[in-house]
Amino acid sequence: MIQNMEYVVAVDVGGTDIKSALIDRNLMIISEKVIPTPLSGNTQEKILDSLIELVAEYSKIQKVSSVGVSFPGIFDDKNGICIWSENLIIENFHIKDLLEKRIQVPIIVRHDVRTAAIAELRIGAAKNTDNAIYMSLGTGIAAAIIMSGSICASNGYAGEIGHVNVNGKFACVCGKFGCLEAASSTLAISKAYASLSRTQGVSTEKIHSLVLQGDATAMDVWRDAMSAIGRACEILVTLLAPEVIVLGGGLSNAKAALLDPVSQYLADSLSFQQRPRVELAHFGSKAGVIGCAIIAFELLPG
Ligand SMILES: [Zn+2]
Repeated sequence: MIQNMEYVVAVDVGGTDIKSALIDRNLMIISEKVIPTPLSGNTQEKILDSLIELVAEYSKIQKVSSVGVSFPGIFDDKNGICIWSENLIIENFHIKDLLEKRIQVPIIVRHDVRTAAIAELRIGAAKNTDNAIYMSLGTGIAAAIIMSGSICASNGYAGEIGHVNVNGKFACVCGKFGCLEAASSTLAISKAYASLSRTQGVSTEKIHSLVLQGDATAMDVWRDAMSAIGRACEILVTLLAPEVIVLGGGLSNAKAALLDPVSQYLADSLSFQQRPRVELAHFGSKAGVIGCAIIAFELLPG
């Protein structure tokens, strides 16, 4: 079967790292690599160089038929332009056009969260639903809003739940105060722990393991972060009545420590609203690369 011999490169550019994979038609990962996202100097040029290099490396393993890339921030899916990313300090980055000049196969670049949501909607935790929310909880926080089977983009500005005020205690990168992202992103959890424990640079993974060990400071920080996510979910449920809320991104690696408190918050806070299922992303933090592969294969015939 000729069709089964096609391979695509999937690249999910995040605020902390760039996840990439060589993926076949059955969406099996053949090879994968994670590199840090360049965050200093000329980040646009460095990100482009990293993507070109990754495609070149995978091309040594198999012939690459197309490339799917996902990118954070306010993103124009139609034209492949990052309008603004506060975490990458990028503005008006015509990434699709620039990559097309240097990569000789078809390429598609889309918003990271909406791309991960495609994977969860088609074959993951939101499969067989018409109305769903996919929330990505990582260095940044954003949601993909799926209504009647379609993902709302609204010129790239829809779904910015990370910048809803949840009465948080911290200033946000967007310039406002009290945003969800400043309370519950992986970066925010580390910062909150640092301010209470006076220990800098402790990762969310480490804080999660301290929570499991019953560390009081870590548990305080975690509780605040989870209730802010629960509050944001309450707003989404009240406005949009999704059948399911899928929790993804790096924080979803915490599994029950994320799912249980958010589910409990909703159980306690909702009254008349339609109660959604709350689930962890089926593909975990790999939803992004799987979504990139799906959109890359859509560029190819068959
Ligand atoms: Zn904000």
